[in-house]
Amino acid sequence: MSDRAPIRIAVIGAGVAGCLVVHGLAGEADVEIFCIEKGPEANVLAGTGLNVGPNALKLLKQCNPNLEVALRAEGVSLPWETWTAGLTDGTVFLDLNLLQVADNTVIRIRWAELYRQLRSPIAAHIRYNTIVVEMGYADTSAESPLYLVIEDQQTGDRQHIDHIDLIVGCDGRYSQVRTTFIDQPEPKHLGVCIYRLLVPNSPDRIIDDYQQWFYNGHRLLAFAIPGNEVYIAGSFPLAAGLEIPEEAKTPAYLRAAYEPPTGYSEVCQFLVSSVCANIDQIHWARIQEIDAVFGDQRGHVLCLGDSSHAMFPTLGQGATQAFEDGCFMAAHLKQWLANARQKGERINIPAFVASVESIRRDRVQFAQQFSREASDALLAGFDPVTALIRKTQPAMLNQLRKLYRDTPDVRLALKR
Ligand SMILES: Cc1cc2nc3c(=O)[nH]c(=O)nc-3n(C[C@H](O)[C@H](O)[C@H](O)COP(=O)(O)OP(=O)(O)OC[C@H]3O[C@@H](n4cnc5c(N)ncnc54)[C@H](O)[C@@H]3O)c2cc1C
Repeated sequence: MSDRAPIRIAVIGAGVAGCLVVHGLAGEADVEIFCIEKGPEANVLAGTGLNVGPNALKLLKQCNPNLEVALRAEGVSLPWETWTAGLTDGTVFLDLNLLQVADNTVIRIRWAELYRQLRSPIAAHIRYNTIVVEMGYADTSAESPLYLVIEDQQTGDRQHIDHIDLIVGCDGRYSQVRTTFIDQPEPKHLGVCIYRLLVPNSPDRIIDDYQQWFYNGHRLLAFAIPGNEVYIAGSFPLAAGLEIPEEAKTPAYLRAAYEPPTGYSEVCQFLVSSVCANIDQIHWARIQEIDAVFGDQRGHVLCLGDSSHAMFPTLGQGATQAFEDGCFMAAHLKQWLANARQKGERINIPAFVASVESIRRDRVQFAQQFSREASDALLAGFDPVTALIRKTQPAMLNQLRKLYRDTPDVRLALKR
């Protein structure tokens, strides 16, 4: 045990990135870490599902093998092994075994289950139902620590927390940390509505692994998750005003939106009927991204996950990059702490924050750019056959290999 004061880290937001930072650093010598979460322990996205990208679990396995095993357990998730894509009449263009482009298969999981698996082992470090009322630097000196004023939403009690060395903003797309210390990001809209819901699968489990079906810029994406439920994410282009028109939120509109002249395939008929029968369950959104930022000017604040770089969801890289961010940041800090311990020094936090940015920026911008390029098939007037044929070409498959395989290198940090 060192006789230096520990580095005090406040993580704001117990989502994907925040939990993984805490997992990586809780129990680390020279670190005191706590997490402030505004929501309750059970997460509000409980009604939907997600597919985690191969790059997320590849890195998680290196950094936290027990958690990787827990996420793959029977009943917790189902394996994501194949990717099928075609037209809503049933014509298949892509039938990809993920291992052609990735080093490992991944998972399909319910959001609530993912949050349960991420949060429960680190419950002692998270304060739920707590909001940040104020945060800032204590003074104007270069060495100034940060402070937080937090409020318990259930009791109304306020607490002032001083001497914080690093605030990690993991508070999602509408980040209070980013707005307070860095900027107010301008959302960039794709001009596409995305809606998501969970529906019961058919008795004969007509939907299984990851699949996408297109018709003239309209897309149905689906996969089964444990409990014999099906996650559906539908999309359609929006007109210039970018608002989601009320008439589009109706069974009549949605039933017609994906229908080819030759009629729906059996699978797409099931998906469209399920959407229409469960229209009240739908979570509506517009696809948008924000420019990537990482640290603030003074170097004691670091944004990760959606607060740093919310991206178009087309390749499922939102949560996946949050996995990469959280795992990498914790492993990198451990390496910096080990080096500092060897030299008998305290780590230079601004230099650490700059190092995270210098290593993560290109990778995150690649994921954002690739997600943007892959989104053209969701735009009005785009020929789906052209987009689908492109998905099968070497250029696209090589990009996927880079995305799924070229995870940040954490070997040095983990060798110790
Ligand atoms: C319905 C839906 C389906 C999705 N499906 C996929 C998918 O299949 N694959 C994929 O890769 N991505 C998917 N995404 C995107 C994904 O959710 C995000 O990219 C990912 O969750 C980002 O992780 P994060 O840790 O940055 O933030 P989040 O997971 O959003 O976590 C942020 C946390 O911070 C808390 N918080 C916010 N503000 C504050 C505050 N001021 N103080 C304290 N706490 C705060 C929130 O309550 C939340 O717990 C989906 C998103 C949605 C909405």
